[in-house]
Formats: sequence, C-alpha cells, structure tokens
Amino acid sequence: MAANFKAELLACFGQPVDENPTGVMQEAGFRELGLNWRYLTIEVPPAKLRDAIAGARAFGLRGFNLTIPHKVAVIPYLDEIAPDATAIGAVNTVRREGDRLIGENTDGKGFLHGVRADAGVDPRGKRAVVLGAGGAARAIVTELALAGAADVLVVNRSVERGSAMVADLAAKTGCPIRYEPWRGTYAVTAAADLLVNATSIGLFPDVHAMPPVDLSGARPGTLVCDVVFNPPETPMLAAARRLGLPTLDGLSMLVYQGTIGFRLWTGREAPAGVMKQALAQALGVA
Ligand code: NDP
Repeated sequence: MAANFKAELLACFGQPVDENPTGVMQEAGFRELGLNWRYLTIEVPPAKLRDAIAGARAFGLRGFNLTIPHKVAVIPYLDEIAPDATAIGAVNTVRREGDRLIGENTDGKGFLHGVRADAGVDPRGKRAVVLGAGGAARAIVTELALAGAADVLVVNRSVERGSAMVADLAAKTGCPIRYEPWRGTYAVTAAADLLVNATSIGLFPDVHAMPPVDLSGARPGTLVCDVVFNPPETPMLAAARRLGLPTLDGLSMLVYQGTIGFRLWTGREAPAGVMKQALAQALGVA
C-alpha cells in the first residue's frame, strides 16, 4: 500500500484565540470519520492577516475559520463571497475550490439549524425578536429573513447601530425587518414566536447578567434562544425555563456553525453528536 503521511490542513485565524474551542470540536469529528485532517488554532494579529491568507494559499489549506478581529477585514483577500455572507458583511468560514478561496458565513445558518433540529421550530412565517445589533445579530437577522420569517424586530441599545443595521439588511434581503430602541426593560409580547439574545450580556465572566427583558407576556411555546455559549445556561434561559418556555442555548449555534463548515470542507456529513460532546467537554459542561 502506498504511504500517505500528509494531513489535510484547516485553521482558525484570530487574536486572541487561546480560549477558542473550535479545534477540539473539528478534530473530534475528523477522528470519528477516520479522516487524516488537522485543525490548527493560530494567533494572527491584524497587521499579519494578509500574510496569513497568502500562507494559507501556499500551504494548500482546505479552508479556515476567521474569528475576532478578522471577520470583515478578510473580505478583500478572498476570491469570492457567498451571497448571504455579502449581505451580512462578514466571513467566518473560508473554503477552497481549486485555487479559489470562497468566503461563507455559517454563524446565522448554524443558529437556524439549531432552531430547526434541536428546538423543532421552522422559522418560515414566524415572528422573531432579536436583541442586539452586533456581528452575531447581523448573521441571525439575515438568515431569519432569508428563511422566510414573517417579521423580524431588532431591539438594540444604540439607536444608531440598530437602525443602520436594520435599514441595511431590509434593503439587502427585501424582507420585513424593523427596529425598536431598547429603553429600560423590553416587554416580550404574545406576538413573538421566537426571542433571541444576540448581545454579549451573560457572557463569562458576567455570568449573572440578565438582558433587561420581561418574559411574563410571552405566550406558551415562544422559543427563547441565547447566543452566549459560555456558560450555556444563562440567566435569561433559566428565567424562560422557570416560566415553562422552550429554550435553545448558544452551544447549539456554535456546534452547527462548525458542522456546516465541516461539510463545506470535507464534503462529508459531520458527526454532530460527537462534535457537540467534545465541545461541551472542552467548555467543562459535559
Ligand atoms: P458585538 O460586540 O458585535 O455586539 C454586541 C451587541 O451586544 C451589541 O448589539 C451591543 O449593543 C449589545 N450589548 C452589549 N452589552 C449590552 C448591554 N449591557 N445592554 C444592552 N446591549 C448590550 O458582539 P458579537 O455580535 O460578535 O457577539 C455577541 C455575542 O454572541 C457574544 O457573547 C459572542 O460570544 C456570541 N456569539 C456566539 C456564537 C455562537 O456560535 N454561539 C457565534 C458568534 C458570537 P450596542 O450596539 O448598544 O453596543
């Protein structure tokens, strides 16, 4: 048998990256499928991003992830950007087709996959409220709109950021997206089918922080989601559970943005259960 000691390579470029657990999840998937692929977590400062992309081309990387602060800055160095990543204005996953590097955004798609697969909810025709207007919110709002949500209401503290994002995404997607300033406590109404915390409130180390929302007006069955994955059990999800509302944690989005990347890179269906288990173990919540 001919020997082949060469592994296929993937990477994550970011700064800081020390605590990024994606590699653990991807490599668990490769092991499960017996693939000789490696995922390297590499610290790349902003001034070195161009060189890192040239290096990725030179090494023949099969693809890579971008995390803070490179998701927008990478765009000029790529050969093509997928339509939804263009609308979002950010790339978190790059795949290689021949010599071409193609930018994708799997964050919002990963969130939506979790809504469908883990919570059993089809976003088509649903009315969603999204808290926040940062990168995660942008990806989620875009994919909700493209998936046929009947109404997406963005509630954000900074009026300028919230209204600018909504105007931009409504124009790009042609879908009903509205903005409301976040003043005091946002009272969820019975009209909402889906509530998403897409802010960083509740993120480690502020694990006791709760977004100022009143869930008591939600109707039974309203799905309450959080993008914060560290810790996965956030005060908002705990409050929703106390009211008997169904919930979806940020681990779901994190796992599925990774499984979508896995499929784009390897062409194989990702072993989602194994990858989720590896991630939960790495985050100490297994
Ligand atoms: P950004 O910094 O781009 O945006 C942060 C958002 O949170 C802004 O809308 C900001 O509002 C809002 N916000 C922060 N603090 C407060 C506060 N005290 N009160 C009201 N609003 C607040 O961050 P990202 O969008 O990149 O990330 C947001 C979260 O999503 C992070 O916790 C991140 O870890 C998580 N994430 C999870 C992923 C997953 O796979 N589960 C993937 C990507 C991100 P304002 O505009 O008013 O400042």
